[in-house]
Amino acid sequence: MHYDEIMVRYGELSTKGRNRKSFIDRLGSNIRAALHDFSDLEIHPGPARTHIVLNGDDYEAVMQRLKNVFGIQSFSPVLKVDRDFAAVAAAAEEMMAALVKQPTTFKIQTRRADKKFPIDTFTMNDRLGGDLLDHFDQLSVDVHHPDLEMRVEIRRDGIYLSCETIPGAGGLPVGTAGKGMMMLSGGIDSPVAAYLAMKRGVSLEMVHFYSPPYTSEQALAKAKELTARLAQYCGSIKFIQVPFTESQEDIKEKVPEGYLMTVQRRMMLRLAVALAHRRRGLAIFNGESLGQVASQTMQSMRAIEDVTTLPVLRPVLSYDKNEIIKIAKDLDTYDLSILPYEDCCTVFTPPRPKTKPRVDRARECEDLIDVHGLMERALAGIKITTIHPGDEFLNQNEDVFAELL
Ligand code: ATP
Ligand code: MG
Repeated sequence: MHYDEIMVRYGELSTKGRNRKSFIDRLGSNIRAALHDFSDLEIHPGPARTHIVLNGDDYEAVMQRLKNVFGIQSFSPVLKVDRDFAAVAAAAEEMMAALVKQPTTFKIQTRRADKKFPIDTFTMNDRLGGDLLDHFDQLSVDVHHPDLEMRVEIRRDGIYLSCETIPGAGGLPVGTAGKGMMMLSGGIDSPVAAYLAMKRGVSLEMVHFYSPPYTSEQALAKAKELTARLAQYCGSIKFIQVPFTESQEDIKEKVPEGYLMTVQRRMMLRLAVALAHRRRGLAIFNGESLGQVASQTMQSMRAIEDVTTLPVLRPVLSYDKNEIIKIAKDLDTYDLSILPYEDCCTVFTPPRPKTKPRVDRARECEDLIDVHGLMERALAGIKITTIHPGDEFLNQNEDVFAELL
C-alpha cells in the first residue's frame, strides 16, 4: 500500500490553553528529531494536526519511530486527494483493494471540517459506501461494530482518507516541562523513572556515580547503554558521570556504620543538586519506590532530602516492583538492568542500614567528612557525553552477556 501522509493527532496538548502553540512547536521539533534520517519527509505542525508528507519514504518505518514520541495521541497513514467525489472514490477503492482480502464489514465515517464543501457527511457516507459495495463482493456494512472503519476528513486543503488509527505514546512533548537531573544507576528502577519523567515532558540529563576500581568499566558502560535505550524517546541525552570513589572511601572510613548509607546518599544528592544549579535543572529525579529498601522509607527520604530545597521527584514512588519490571520489559531496559555489574551503592552498602535515620544525627555524621572538598574534587572530575539512540557501549562478546541471552 502507498500512502501520501501520516496524520498526527494531539492528546492532552489540546487542553493546554495559552501554552498550546509552544507545545505544538516543541512536538514538531521532537518529531523532526525522531525522523531526522528520513531525507524526503516534510513535517507541517498545525493547530489541529501535524501532517508528515511522506514523499515516497517508507510509512511503516516512519510510524515505528512516531510510537516513541511523547505528546502524540494517535496517528494514521492517509491518502490525500482533491476535493472531488470521484477522487475520493478512487482513493477509497485503492485502499480497500489493499486491505480487504476476506469477507469484511465496514463503515464510512465522514467529518466535514470545512462546511463549505458541497457534499454533507450523510451523503458522503452513503455515496462512498454504495460505491465500495458495488466494487467489492467481500464487503458488507456494519455501522455498529465494523471490522474496518474508513475515516474521511474533508478539509480546506483537500480530503484525507484513513483506515488505521495507531495509538501514540501519550504524555507531553519532551522539553515542555523544563529540564531535570535524573539520578541514573544501572538498576531496574531508575530507567523506568526516567521514562515516566520524559513522558510528562521533562527533558533529562543523566547523572551517574561510579567508583572505580570498586565498580567496573562495564558498570559504567551499562548505565550509558541504558541511556541510549532511553534516548529513543527524546533524540539524545547528556550523560554526566561523576567520580564517587573518594567520597565513598572517606565516608566509609569516618562515618558510623548505621549512617553510612544516609550520608552517602546525601552526598550524591548534593552533587546532583550542584549539577542542577550549574546546568539550569529545575528538579532532581530518582528511581526510589516507597518502602522498597532501607533507604526508601519516608524517614530516610527526609534525612537525605535535608541537603536541598530543590524538589526531589520520584516517578515510581507508588509502583510495586512487579509493575516497574513490567514497564522495564516494555522499554527494553530490563535485560540490561539485570546484568550483574556492581553498582557503586551495592559495593558500599552496609549490612544493616538504618531504616529510620534521624536528620540531626545525619548532619552530625556528615560533619565528620570534608563535604566541600570532596564535592569540589568530584565535580572537577565529571565527564559529559551526548548519547544517541542505538549507541553501543557494552562489549557484547562478554561471557556474562552471552550466558544471559
Ligand atoms: P535502581 O534500580 O534504580 O538502581 P534501586 O531500587 O536499586 O534502584 P537504590 O540502589 O537504593 O535503589 O537506588 C535508589 C536510587 O538512587 C536509584 O533509583 C537512583 O535514582 C539513585 N542511584 C543509586 N545509585 C546510583 C548511581 N550509581 N548513580 C546515580 N544514581 C544512583
Ligand atoms: Mg540500585
